[in-house]
Formats: sequence, structure tokens, C-alpha cells
Amino acid sequence: MKTIGFVGGMSWESSLEYYRIINEKVKEELGGFHSAKCLMYSVDFEEIEKLQRQGKWDEATDLMIDAAQRVEKGGADFVVFCTNTMHKLAEHVQNSINIPLLHIGDVTAKKIKERGLKKVGLLGTRFTMEEDFYRIRLQEKHGLEVIIPDEGERQTIHSILYSELCMGEIKEISKEIFQKIIENLVAKGAEGVILGCTEIPLLVKQEDYEIPLFDTTTIHARAAVEYALE
Ligand code: GLU
Repeated sequence: MKTIGFVGGMSWESSLEYYRIINEKVKEELGGFHSAKCLMYSVDFEEIEKLQRQGKWDEATDLMIDAAQRVEKGGADFVVFCTNTMHKLAEHVQNSINIPLLHIGDVTAKKIKERGLKKVGLLGTRFTMEEDFYRIRLQEKHGLEVIIPDEGERQTIHSILYSELCMGEIKEISKEIFQKIIENLVAKGAEGVILGCTEIPLLVKQEDYEIPLFDTTTIHARAAVEYALE
């Protein structure tokens, strides 16, 4: 079994989920007392959030490279960033380490294609929804058509993510807001919806929807185990 190297803490609420899911998956695959070989470097999210908000992406890149190098030095065989947003820096990080980084967008796209879907909605932070690093990768590398909520909805999602979910707050009213936004994406032709922020699955659950939801936390964590056991 390969050792998984997590870069977590963005936020720690979702990093906890990764730890649970990888161990459940290893148990499912190997049974007995088996559990995942892993280590995690968990950042102080206050520092990261501030740099994101101020648009200081060069400094954020340095922090992410440092974190990835720490897990590499700690003996990880590959790196998993427990966040969609910070994959904005994935290429720089990959070029600064000697072990692979398992990209959350790639493993999610694989699941979408396995379900035979072409057109999907994307929910995440404003960075993930609006910038090229995630959407364009899904479109150009994986041939998917990706649609996003409108401007006002994007702002609402972003603020729920940072002021509630990343603070560990789950509110019924926000669940309803997401429901409406997902309905609007379906009306625009989405055949599935990517929960492209690792905290969204804490609030939005597949059992409340008919349309397939792609929970990036679960998909990424399970893919990490598949890769570790290859
Ligand atoms: N966990 C979030 C994500 O998946 C947002 C926190 C962050 O900015 O990294 O994008």
C-alpha cells in the first residue's frame, strides 16, 4: 500500500472527512484490521484565506509548495490536496515536488464520464467556479461541458462557504438556497452537479436529489485509496 500525503486544514472540517473516507474505503477493499497508510500536513487556514482574499497567489503558492514538500519529506508516495480551490496552484506545486499530485478535477471528471454525462453544473468557491484552472481542465482535458450559477448565486455560495461551512456551521436555510441554485442549473441543462468544494457535501446530500451529485471529497478520498492500492 502506498502512503497518502494529505495537505489539509482547508478547512479542517473537510479534512476530517478525508480521513474517515479513506479508512472506510481501505476496510471495504482489504477487510480485517486494514487501515490507510497516510500522513497529513494541516495548514493554518487563516493564513491561506487571507492570501486568497487579497489575491496574493504567489505567496499562497509558496505555502502550498512548502506543505507538499513536507509531506514528501515525511515519506508520502503521492500528494492529495484536501481542497478544490488550491488546485489553482497544482501545476506549480507538481513542478516543485518529486511525487505525483492526485488532481481532484481529474478523478471527478472520470466519475462523471463513467456515468455517461456530458453537461454538468459546478458549485464551489468563486475561484473554482469563475477561473479557468478547474472549468477549463474539465472541458479541455476531459471533454465535459461545464456550467456555473449566475453572478448573484455565485456570490451567495462563496459567502456560505467561507462564513458558514468553513467555520463548521450547517444551516437549514443555506441548504434551501443550494437546492434552489441546483434546480436552476438543472433548468439550464445540467445532467449532474459537481460539489466542487470539499465542505459542500457537509450540507448538500445526494439523498435529497434525483440528479447525480459529484461529491468531490468522497470521490477524491476514494480515488486516493484506489491509487494507493494499485
Ligand atoms: N475546501 C474548499 C474547496 O474545496 C475551500 C477552502 C479553500 O479555499 O481551500 O475549494
